[in-house]
Amino acid sequence: MTQITVIGAGPAGVLAALRAADLGAQTTLVTNGAFGGMAANDGPVPVRTLAHVGRLMREARQLGQYGVKVGEPVLDYARLLARVREVVNEVDTHSSLRQQIDALGVIVHEQAGAARFLDPHTVETKGGLRLQADKIIICTGGVNRRLPIGGFELTSTHSDAWRLTSVPPSMLVIGAGATGVQVASIFNAFGSRVQLFEAGPRILATEDESVSAAAAVAFRESGMMVRENFGTIESFEKTATGVRMNFSKDGQRFSAEAALAVVAIGWMADTTGLNLAAAGVELNERKFVKVDEYLQTSVPHIFAAGDIIGRMMLVPQAIQGGFVAATNAVQGRKLPLLLEEEVTPMGSFTEPEYAQVGLTEAKARKTNDIVTAILNFGSTPRTIIDGRKFGFCKLIVDRKTAKILGCHVIGERAVDIVEVAAIAVAAGMRVDELARIPLSYPTYAGILVRAAVKAARELGLQVGWQSHQAA
Ligand SMILES: Cc1cc2nc3c(=O)[nH]c(=O)nc-3n(C[C@H](O)[C@H](O)[C@H](O)COP(=O)(O)OP(=O)(O)OC[C@H]3O[C@@H](n4cnc5c(N)ncnc54)[C@H](O)[C@@H]3O)c2cc1C
Repeated sequence: MTQITVIGAGPAGVLAALRAADLGAQTTLVTNGAFGGMAANDGPVPVRTLAHVGRLMREARQLGQYGVKVGEPVLDYARLLARVREVVNEVDTHSSLRQQIDALGVIVHEQAGAARFLDPHTVETKGGLRLQADKIIICTGGVNRRLPIGGFELTSTHSDAWRLTSVPPSMLVIGAGATGVQVASIFNAFGSRVQLFEAGPRILATEDESVSAAAAVAFRESGMMVRENFGTIESFEKTATGVRMNFSKDGQRFSAEAALAVVAIGWMADTTGLNLAAAGVELNERKFVKVDEYLQTSVPHIFAAGDIIGRMMLVPQAIQGGFVAATNAVQGRKLPLLLEEEVTPMGSFTEPEYAQVGLTEAKARKTNDIVTAILNFGSTPRTIIDGRKFGFCKLIVDRKTAKILGCHVIGERAVDIVEVAAIAVAAGMRVDELARIPLSYPTYAGILVRAAVKAARELGLQVGWQSHQAA
């Protein structure tokens, strides 16, 4: 029987262990943290819980508009953290993955200390556990990028939110990608004075330009200071009340101070401590573990999956990767990893939410003759009912084939709206086909059909009774 050791129990590692055991391998899963990895304990689940509280506070403030009298909401941060722990535990308790892993007889070593390679077939944990296997699957995820500059140790990451005892009165957030904007948005909602710094010309650089611009407007309107093109960080230093960031731009020096500085300037492979050299596993030019399409590393019996390989670093893709790596580790190179970027919805639970699937307008224009249709949230019944009128839904459609190439949404429930669009894109739907679907009324996803009607009209396509929908 093939012996498999999986290192790291995040979504990639758990799926890899599950699949390997399901295929009959004698499987051991070893992790330095808790079962579920960053996804369950430090990433999406707890961060989404914080974002939910931001939403609750916002909705509480809306009550007066609907005739319900209550006072100004006051956040008890300690109680909130206790609730986050409850949520994490409840999600863990309901994870069917843990039950399946146990039922299949996978040996799980949690909190075992960091594992490192002793040789190509042996890993040893800090706690002294030594494991030998025919095949090894590395699923150790990622870590925040650090800068080799003075005072960097004074900065924090999103993980430090769990160690705070109260909401900091002020916060610098450096890096306006998905993690940075979520931290900034959440703590802004909690009452911190947040300054968001972005080195590039726009926040959310991988989103459609219209979404980046709208997010910047919304963040500014909510009181956040947003500074694009801010320059280059030179150092951090301690102040009496927190931390100061020194930075320069065009030969001039500047500084900004706050109680806390959170740095979110990139996500890197967590390879430190793995001693990959002892196994001969190579990294690629981006310093992620180098794998081929079968997720095989430069060492034939060692595979890797999840954030550690640096491709589309999201939970569903980590799960898919774990499945593929384990399949190939047990059965030989059989199953390639096909990450279909064009049908992968992505978004963040900021205030307002934003999300996308498929091509941005700029990318689509390079390859296709396109039509775009934009529907403003303020013109749809459900957003008016809920008093959530900020935002829009933008559809990008190929003029020749009428197929949907991309969908970009900012505003309430953007992530859910884009899920529906992703299904349409994956199904290869024409925009007039989408326009004919009688989605429920009045819903947030309904905006998608109205945008589709608008695009179909622009293309001169018939959409039947739906054409009378105001678009
Ligand atoms: C703030 C934040 C919010 C996010 N929100 C979302 C979201 O909403 N939706 C989404 O899809 N994705 C989200 N992500 C991304 C998502 O969390 C990751 O893509 C996913 O967790 C990757 O899974 P993984 O199994 O590769 O690694 P991880 O979940 O990071 O798990 C890796 C595990 O390996 C362990 N490990 C590391 N080194 C060793 C070692 N040497 N020995 C033993 N064990 C080791 C770690 O402790 C960890 O438990 C978010 C990420 C962050 C940072």
